[in-house]
Amino acid sequence: MKEQITINSLEFAQKSHEIHGRITPRDLGRLEDVLFSQDGNLDYLLQGGVNAQAKPEIRLRIQGELMLACQRCMGPMRHPVDIAARFVIVPDESMMPAPDDEQDDVDFLVADPRLDVMALVEDEILLGLPMAPLHETAECGVPAAEAKEQKESPFKVLQGLKFGKS
Ligand SMILES: [Zn+2]
Repeated sequence: MKEQITINSLEFAQKSHEIHGRITPRDLGRLEDVLFSQDGNLDYLLQGGVNAQAKPEIRLRIQGELMLACQRCMGPMRHPVDIAARFVIVPDESMMPAPDDEQDDVDFLVADPRLDVMALVEDEILLGLPMAPLHETAECGVPAAEAKEQKESPFKVLQGLKFGKS
């Protein structure tokens, strides 16, 4: 397990601090079940600052690659990671906006004198993972004909809806 890195989130934003580092899948305990192997690296960059509304915010960038397990053939599947997230730091729970008011690309965090950086990074990576990672048919270890007989993944059903197919 990676040593714990904590920051005072409000101070980090107000003083425009910056930290960056490299983590390996081994550091991300909650990803263990979806990973094919521990291959891959992730670089993260955390930057404090104030946004256009003069509110303290923290920006997080995560880039790298993970090796997921394809849910059809259980073989390795490269998964590029490129995440950019923004968190506005609010003083307490009462300042959290109603869910309807939240903008798509901005999240809110209650100020925390000991924000766990690795937990934040891990949360964002988990949120960005596909629900059911699958190879493209041509790359998959299970031939397409066989794959069709398997239960359709929720992802494929959604895709069908999107393009008006049943
Ligand atoms: Zn596959």
